[in-house]
Amino acid sequence: MFKTKKPANVKLTILGGLGEIGKNMMVIENGKDMLLVDAGIMFPEEEMLGIDLVLPDFSYVVKNKERLKAIIITHGHEDHTGALPYLLKEVSAPVYGSKLTLGLIEKKMGEHKLKADLREISSRTKLTVGQFKLSFFEVCHSIPDGLGIIIETLFGLMVHTGDFKFDQTPVDGRPTELQKLTGLGQKEVLLLLSDSTNAEIPGYTLPEKTVGANLLKLFEDARQRIIVATFASHLHRIKQIVDATIKTDRKLAISGRSMVNNVRIASELGYLKIPEEVLVDVAKIEKYPPDKIVVLCTGSQGEPLSALARISSNDHKQVKLHPGDTVIISASPIPGNERSVSRIINQIYRCGAVAHYELISGVHASGHPAQEELKLMINLVKPKYFIPIHGEYRHLKHHAELAKQVGIHPENIFICEDGDVIEFNAYGAKKTGEIPAGDVFVDGLGVGDIGDIVLRDRKQLSKDGVFIVVVAIDKQKAEIITGPDVVSRGFVYVKETKELIDEAIERVEETLAKTAQEGVTDITVLRLRIREDLSKFLYKKTRRRPMVMPIIIEA
Ligand SMILES: [Zn+2]
Ligand SMILES: [Zn+2]
Repeated sequence: MFKTKKPANVKLTILGGLGEIGKNMMVIENGKDMLLVDAGIMFPEEEMLGIDLVLPDFSYVVKNKERLKAIIITHGHEDHTGALPYLLKEVSAPVYGSKLTLGLIEKKMGEHKLKADLREISSRTKLTVGQFKLSFFEVCHSIPDGLGIIIETLFGLMVHTGDFKFDQTPVDGRPTELQKLTGLGQKEVLLLLSDSTNAEIPGYTLPEKTVGANLLKLFEDARQRIIVATFASHLHRIKQIVDATIKTDRKLAISGRSMVNNVRIASELGYLKIPEEVLVDVAKIEKYPPDKIVVLCTGSQGEPLSALARISSNDHKQVKLHPGDTVIISASPIPGNERSVSRIINQIYRCGAVAHYELISGVHASGHPAQEELKLMINLVKPKYFIPIHGEYRHLKHHAELAKQVGIHPENIFICEDGDVIEFNAYGAKKTGEIPAGDVFVDGLGVGDIGDIVLRDRKQLSKDGVFIVVVAIDKQKAEIITGPDVVSRGFVYVKETKELIDEAIERVEETLAKTAQEGVTDITVLRLRIREDLSKFLYKKTRRRPMVMPIIIEA
């Protein structure tokens, strides 16, 4: 352990990823210096209308930006990298990650026309940034080149697992580094932060190679074209699809922008080797017999504009689905995407093709550890304190139970959520506070300009439409000059509900008469009163709640 003159606190601040799956980000402060682990995004939930992305609220980092020494990215998934372009517009710090992680980040920064100070690390790197000493261990996950982090702090080691699993026979021969973790257990580990995604699932996660064997079997049985959709970043899966293609003497065509991009980046960086003679242009697949073609595509999450969505709805320029074709969705839907995936599966069956997906064919294995692996991690590292990370509240809760089972003192387990601050000092650890942390919405070019109010409006508009009342009044005499007139969209068909509209207009006149009597002249108050009265009236009459917008013109 190194010494500092002034003993200070070590502080952990959760900015995202706890209490949700997505937008992982945490701040670790060692004395004055600040370190950021991951900078991810979350894809919007269905009720977040028109929102493209959700970012963590990183205003705490921006406020303390001169203390930020480094940003460490554990791996290349969007829920760990996606917020970087937005963050790096406001702070500057070197970004550390493995070769593949940085390759994917560089592409992303390029799309935002930004440059970052990217510094490559590996599991052998030892790094000193400010008062932090960092080392790393390899972790096996559903994207290659993931790293866990060992952070030397004033009060002991902190171990951050990143996303991991313990696959003993990984496709790239790069298992999670057990020997390093065992070594850690011999030292005094202050804190373990570990991946909770699958904390509810008993046993062990299926080895990735099992999926390869299942895929090969399906390839061998297929008599016509095979179309496989998977995550564009799942290079192990893609490698197994390439292998099965070669073994069954087929050619591979690739469709979908992110799939084409990732295969190119991975091939350039040496993470994927596809023999040239195996690849064919997707525009030329018609020249080959159906039993000689595999199409690898995007859309495993049912994304409406993806290659698979287009193929299954007969809207893809080059790939048409025929009866007897085999379609494999080699992924599991991320919570929230189940309906869109289900819609695609229905479409596939409608075309007369055969669909295979996780539920029925074993064509997917998770990249996260199940319960026995989680217990193993805690037993290897033997931390004094434990914080489950990367999960919804229920996952964190189950993970905390597992930690108790393997002997972590219940008082030393913290179930945290976004915004929580945990402080460590010579006497122990405690939750000391909360900072503002929530969702920052990205909508088109705007970042953070859409708040809950705008969202609530969108929700209301989409459900019950809008009801606009225009009235011009003479403020001095407190009387109506013109109107009220009504414009309505998405609420009721105005022509057929003349009676309702007439009554609504009467209501507005009544409200204005009443406010005039009361001597109300403030336009804001007038607007509020009209909105209240009219909303009540419309709800009583129609049981709907359109957005009521009074427009008052003063003359
Ligand atoms: Zn991941
Ligand atoms: Zn993740």
